[in-house]
This record gives sequence, C-alpha cells and structure tokens, in this order.
Amino acid sequence: MQIPSPVQEIQHPVFKQAEVEVFIKRDDLIHPAISGNKWRKLKYNVQAIVEKGLDGFITFGGAYSNHLAAAAYAGKLAGVDMIALVRGEIDDNQNPTLNFLKACGMHLHALTRDEYRQKANAGFLNELQGRYPKHLIIPEGGANLWGVQGCMEILSELDVQPDIVAASLGSATTFSGLVLSAKPQIELWGFPALKGGAYLRDTVNNFISEAKQSNKVPPTFDPPKWRLITDYHFGGFAKTTPAFIHFLNAFYTETGIPLDPIYTGKMMYGLLEEVKIGKIEPGSTILALHTGGLQGIKGMNQRLRKQNLQIEYEEAIAHPFPDPPH
Ligand SMILES: *Cc1c(COP(=O)(O)O)cnc(C)c1O
Repeated sequence: MQIPSPVQEIQHPVFKQAEVEVFIKRDDLIHPAISGNKWRKLKYNVQAIVEKGLDGFITFGGAYSNHLAAAAYAGKLAGVDMIALVRGEIDDNQNPTLNFLKACGMHLHALTRDEYRQKANAGFLNELQGRYPKHLIIPEGGANLWGVQGCMEILSELDVQPDIVAASLGSATTFSGLVLSAKPQIELWGFPALKGGAYLRDTVNNFISEAKQSNKVPPTFDPPKWRLITDYHFGGFAKTTPAFIHFLNAFYTETGIPLDPIYTGKMMYGLLEEVKIGKIEPGSTILALHTGGLQGIKGMNQRLRKQNLQIEYEEAIAHPFPDPPH
C-alpha cells in the first residue's frame, strides 16, 4: 500500500505551450486491487464494520464496477462477509471484474435494471437491512459520509501548492471530500463522467450540509470556489468514441500515464480542452487527481475488440486482478 500516493508532473506539449504546470496525484498506485478513490472511500466504511462488530457489508454496482472490485478485495482482507447486488448479468464468466469478485468470495445477486433503480429508496433499504441486520449497507460507489471522510485526507498529503485541483465525478463523493478539505485559495474543477451531470451540484451541497451536521467540518465552514464542467462525457457513463480511445493511447505514449476510459480519461481530455481554449491563466499550477479505475480496462477492451479498437496499455498495468488474500 502506498500512502501518501505519489505526485508526478505531466509533460505534455499542450500544457507546456500554455505555460501551465500540471501535476497528477497517482491514487491509482495506492493499491493494485483497492485502487484510487475506492481505497479512500472504503477505509472508514470497513473500519466501521470492524468497530461495530458487524458481520460484513452489502453494496451495489454494475458488472464492471471499480467499486465492487475494490470492495471485494478490501472485504476479503478484513475477513468480513460481502454481498453485492449487481445491475444486470452475473453469469458472464468472461467478465474479468465479476470473476475477480467471485474469486474474492463476494456473494453476488443479480438485480434487473428496474430493481436496481430502487437501490436508494428508503423502503427497499429498510427491507434489506431487516433481512441482514448485521451487515452495513454501503451505497453504490461508497457514496456515504464515511466515503467523503476518507477523501478529505487526499489533499492533506500534498507538498505542491496548486491553484486548481481537478477530479472526475461519478457519485460526487470524492469531489465533496476535496471541497470539504481544500485550502480556501484552491479552486476545484469537477468533471462528471455521466451525461447531464449538473444534478451533482446538489449532491455536493448535500454532503457539505451533512458534513457540517456531523462535525466533519465546523458549522461555520465556507467552501472554496468549485465548479462542475459537464461537457466531457462522450455520450454518457461508460460510453466511448473511437476518437476518445485514440486520445487515451496517445496520452499514454506522450506521458507514460495510463488513464481509465470511464473517469480519469474524460477528466484529462476536458482539462486539456479547457487549457487549449484559454480557460487557464499562464503560470497556473494544476493538480489532477488520478482516481484509479484501471481494472476496468480489461473488460472495456473485450467490448472494444468488436469495433477493432483497443486501449493499448492494458498489459503495462501492474496486476489489476491480484490473487485474493488468504
Ligand atoms: C468511482 C470512480 C470515480 C468516481 O468517484 P465518486 O466519488 O463516485 O464521484 C472517479 N474515478 C474513478 C477511476 C472511479 O473508479
């Protein structure tokens, strides 16, 4: 495990020409299987299970979910029982993520897309908790206040002083942790990975209120400036275009940094565009957060093969599916 995660400067001609310095905090290198922000978000959730003497957890995700992959390994390490309610198919034995979950001993139950939509409803959750009283229910993506709390530690590890911190958003848990912990002079730029991500503003504001109520920040807390840039979703969550896949490969060739196709690739594409169109002043220092997600490349490549496309650095990534701990 690598905490603090390393920070590297990105050497890219677009940044150089615009005279902006860009660093990347490699949370993808924290752990080969509990990668990136998922390690951050699971830390206090798993700790709560152990401290409360619970049997384990129930959580949610899609069939290629970074969260489920991280939770399966983290749960196995902690020796707790793990139940995953998976959106769609669980019988596909070609799916590398599902195979990893099974190898870690996670119990999988398939939910139809309609059932899956109920997963945050109070009635559904109450019934689930009633059936499993000794399991912590962790929302999809680790999106609870313990998740936010783990992500409030990210910026405390910095020794560079950025003007802007950029991150990708799914559930907005990580970004909320950044907003709740950044120094007042830092501006936070969030790039939702899904289409229509503007609704995540409310999610961030709700987490800020919750954090105040539970004293994670003082009641007088005033957030630093933050904005969401919602244009760089490439058609929606987990959607890609050939041009985007070419971008990922070119970025890797140029910088040696592997990005994931769902989140960090879209953030980096957006950041480069924003720099190109002059939205960032020369002399600025930017810190981009590599939130991980590289385990998803193997499954994405299986799907891309049908279109004769590949993310070319799949083999260069160190063991995204290590053998589960005993
Ligand atoms: C899950 C994930 C995100 C989204 O994080 P949230 O806290 O849900 O907003 C971003 N990047 C990667 C690589 C992820 O796996």
